[in-house]
Order: sequence, then C-alpha cells, then structure tokens
Amino acid sequence: MVYFEKSQPAPNCLELEKAKANGDYKCLNVLEKIKDDFKNKCYICEYKEPIAINVEHFLPHEGNKELKFNWDNLFWSCAHCNNIKLANYTNILNCTVANHFVGIKLKYLFKPFPYEKVVIEELVNTPEVIQTKQLLEAVYNGTTKLKTIEAANLRNRLLDEIKDFQHYLCEYFKDTNSVEDKEYFLIKIRGHLNRGSNFTAFKRWIVIENETLYKTFSMHLD
Ligand SMILES: [Zn+2]
Repeated sequence: MVYFEKSQPAPNCLELEKAKANGDYKCLNVLEKIKDDFKNKCYICEYKEPIAINVEHFLPHEGNKELKFNWDNLFWSCAHCNNIKLANYTNILNCTVANHFVGIKLKYLFKPFPYEKVVIEELVNTPEVIQTKQLLEAVYNGTTKLKTIEAANLRNRLLDEIKDFQHYLCEYFKDTNSVEDKEYFLIKIRGHLNRGSNFTAFKRWIVIENETLYKTFSMHLD
C-alpha cells in the first residue's frame, strides 16, 4: 500500500444520487475521479489497471446511506482484493490519510527464494497495523483454494515487476554504461518508485533496505 491523496470536493453527482430513492454511488464523475486519485491501481494489492474493478466501501455501508454515498469512504480495488476484504477487515490503515503511513508501518517483502510467498512485517504493533498485515498476506498468498490460485497469479506479476526494477538498478550502477544510458535508467527507476506504478511498496522497500540504493534514490520515495 502507498498513500493516495483523495481529491476534494466530492463529485457533484454523488449528492444528487444520494437524494434519489435508488441512487447509484458509481456515477460517472465518481468513477473518473476515483480512478484518477488511485492512479487506476487497486489500493490493496497495488496491481495497476485491473480488469475487474470494484468501487469499494472502505467501511462497509451495510445499508447506511451516509457511508454508502460518502466520497471519503469510496476506494478503488480489484475484484480479488475486494472479495477477500468484504466486511472481514474493518479496522485497517487508511491509505488516503497521510499520517497513517501505510508504506512504512509495514515492511513489504517478496523474495521468491527461499520464501515463495509474500511476507508483510509489522513495524508498529497496533490493531490497525496487524489487521492490515493480515489482509495483505491474505491477498498476496491466498485464502480459499481459488483465491490461492489468484494470489499465485498476482505474485507472478509482482515477480515480473521486481525483476524489471532490479534490471534497471543493475544497469544504473554498471561502470560500462554511458552517462546518457544512466539517465535513461534513472528515468525508469523513478517510474518504478512512483506511487502510480505496480506494487510500489515492495520496490520502495528494496531501496530502503539497501544503504547504497537508499543514498542514491531516497529523494524519489516521497
Ligand atoms: Zn487488488
């Protein structure tokens, strides 16, 4: 997870839909704004441009109209994550609140060997952090048999993304590459570290945990 700033004010159509007997919170302005705010990434697994998207209620509305049409309660998630979260995780860190520090209260690790699975380490011991860790591990490693297959597919994409990122890191530090080439590799590395990229939190932790990488790229972690 990484921080996303939710644009304000709420889209106009939300208030209009709320006033109707059978209004739809997924009105056009909401979809356009929310997609843009979340950089078209699932806020939970950080997979970009998911094919199956849900406009999720961060706190389940359970028929409560205020929660159902509250702009701050609407999030962009993929079907895989939304289906795992449901009403099972209601006390998690909020990635649209800057001081929840979703990127640094948890450590995001994926080392295919020897792990094969994603490991999320809590760096702060609070109920919200622990429940966020549990949700993320369920999303990346699976729950039911079907979800475990979906999670393995997700980790394959995560692995591809990390391999691509590491390729550019290696090229950047190679002595034989020209200054022009290094500038190109730096653009690619910055793209990977941008919050709008796939699986940003994992790539940022690769940088944070390595002294040389941190010295070189920490200014691109904001
Ligand atoms: Zn997801």
